Amino acid sequence: MDIVIVGSGIAGLGTAMAFTDAGKKVMVLEKKMTGEASQAAAGILDPFLERGPRHPLLPLAISALRKFPQLIQKIRKVTGGDAGYRCAGLMYVAFTPAEEKILRAKYRWQKKTGVALRWLKRHEVVKREPGVCGSVRCGIYYPGIGRVIAPDFLRSIRTYLIKKGCLFRTVSRDPRPVTDQKGVKRFMFGAGGNTYLAADMVFTRGAWEKYSPKKNVRPWFRPVRGQALIVRMPRCKLMTTVHSVRSAYVVPWQKSVYLLGSTVEFSGFRPHTTRAGLCRIRDGAQRLVPAFRSARMIRKWAGLRPISRDRLPVIGRTGAGGAYLLNGLYRSGILLGCELGRLLSHGIMRRKMPKIIEPYSPGRIKI
Ligand SMILES: Cc1cc2nc3c(=O)[nH]c(=O)nc-3n(C[C@H](O)[C@H](O)[C@H](O)COP(=O)(O)OP(=O)(O)OC[C@H]3O[C@@H](n4cnc5c(N)ncnc54)[C@H](O)[C@@H]3O)c2cc1C
Repeated sequence: MDIVIVGSGIAGLGTAMAFTDAGKKVMVLEKKMTGEASQAAAGILDPFLERGPRHPLLPLAISALRKFPQLIQKIRKVTGGDAGYRCAGLMYVAFTPAEEKILRAKYRWQKKTGVALRWLKRHEVVKREPGVCGSVRCGIYYPGIGRVIAPDFLRSIRTYLIKKGCLFRTVSRDPRPVTDQKGVKRFMFGAGGNTYLAADMVFTRGAWEKYSPKKNVRPWFRPVRGQALIVRMPRCKLMTTVHSVRSAYVVPWQKSVYLLGSTVEFSGFRPHTTRAGLCRIRDGAQRLVPAFRSARMIRKWAGLRPISRDRLPVIGRTGAGGAYLLNGLYRSGILLGCELGRLLSHGIMRRKMPKIIEPYSPGRIKI
């Protein structure tokens, strides 16, 4: 095996994809933890979410958005499916003067980024999406921001990897560093009844990653719970993902089926939904599109987004032999996972990280 990847969320699969494309032999180690973020994601490919004009990750996020259609095409060529991708645009809407002020400020700086966007007056919002609440004041429409159905996207990448010869194994003993007889540092782990040794490993264990640069110090990553629900709403026909200035959004999922999201909760390792969380989501969605008042819930779930202490991703070598990290993708892992995995894999293969991800090196972590 040339490389072993620990974790099969989008960070792990995205990294595995890049190595597989480069002709490397890849093994992905899995352990099914309840609350995997990637399966729970809404799949909106929004590069601006929680980012201002000077956010360090913005150029990378925009570049990941631009490359997404290519990525989907690559997956389609091998698997024959569309990975749940649809590009019907994203619309942010404002209902109060304060929200309009926030949107106008966003519009001013975002139009300089090169991402296609259009300011919509009230009647233009309603013309585009008649279901949106009539008290809407204005909106920003991003025609090039699509979405994937996250479980389909992950399944497609997995099929892609299997077809390309990548191995998936359930981990029975977590990797631990060992020194072999020649004094070379390696990792030993157990999977499928066998014990393996590996030189290079990429850890993509999301919120469960215990990495910290020093022993007995709390881990650098923690979970941020996000709840979401899927509803059936035959009376409403939305084409576009509609997002409030705050955290409520409605994503067209399948015919007459919508995903409503989402909460952002620092509530530890509790990957379950709560009545309060689901009510907040429903209220937020109804404020956007009143017809959702009579929507019927089909499913609900919660996922644990991995966040680092400085809220930025952590990508690169940890300093312990051939151990690498890709983590802290927080609210944008579906958008960023494959692009960051590609950059990390280049860095590992060339033994030098690309400049663009150097600021996210684990080396920046001081206790
Ligand atoms: C409700 C919600 C909505 C979201 N919406 C969006 C969105 O619209 N757009 C977007 O871009 N992002 C979105 N996200 C964020 C996105 O889901 C995350 O950023 C991303 O999934 C993180 O991927 P990951 O691979 O790092 O972590 P995870 O997906 O959590 O994967 C970590 C994996 O590691 C495994 N693991 C843990 N411990 C071990 C171990 N010891 N050995 C082996 N494997 C292990 C876990 O089982 C899991 O499979 C959303 C998240 C949530 C919860």
